Amino acid sequence: MLRTTAFSETSCVVNWLTPEFGKIATLIKGAFRPRGGFIGQFDSFFTCEILFYHRFGGEVHVTREVTALKTRESFRSDWRATACASYLTDLVARASPPEAPHPEAFRLLDELLDELAANGASVPLVFWFELRLLESLGLAPQFTRCIRCGRELSPQDRGVKFQPSHGGLICGACEKTEVRDASPIAADVLATLSSWQRSQHPHAARRTQCGGRQAGEIENLLGAFLTYHLDMALPARRICFDLLARKPGR
Ligand SMILES: [Zn+2]
Repeated sequence: MLRTTAFSETSCVVNWLTPEFGKIATLIKGAFRPRGGFIGQFDSFFTCEILFYHRFGGEVHVTREVTALKTRESFRSDWRATACASYLTDLVARASPPEAPHPEAFRLLDELLDELAANGASVPLVFWFELRLLESLGLAPQFTRCIRCGRELSPQDRGVKFQPSHGGLICGACEKTEVRDASPIAADVLATLSSWQRSQHPHAARRTQCGGRQAGEIENLLGAFLTYHLDMALPARRICFDLLARKPGR
């Protein structure tokens, strides 16, 4: 479940991400009626099975049944995990066009919510998910070659910069010619990003030691990339990182 909007006193419209149909919206009539059969079956960060009537040409379909498959109870008490889940669910909702099947986005979000619910929040995990989602959308940043001349680059190469608008790294020679909006990228940050990009499993991000300076650089670099390529502001991202920067228990 991506989000819910009240429709009347007893009904609501729910946005779902589905493997077969992509992002869809369904009306749940009697969602809040005690005997409606829907209470407890859907909520934020649940994975559900839904049976709905497809309205051809309509933007909102009609829900017949909802059954909760995963309720992920720890989100009720772990506010740091909830901050990550809220932002990443919002990111997927914004990046997914309506009714365009995208099974990989569904699989990624389902896996990420499982991981957050089981093992709690992690800043590297958020970055890892952003990279994987970009890749599934065909927008993966280029971290191994110069986007201008195609030369293979390594984190140790001098003068390498990152240019969000062109999609990745630019070598020192090309950068001297015409590029204006490229920023320096530290060797350890580049090595971390390219290793996350190669890892298919969230555990790889969990194992990474990511210090404050590295996390800040990656946050800015990926933030600029996401904002440029998805062409949208991401206010929930700022809120997520602000919350994660607070000490647990405060
Ligand atoms: Zn080059």
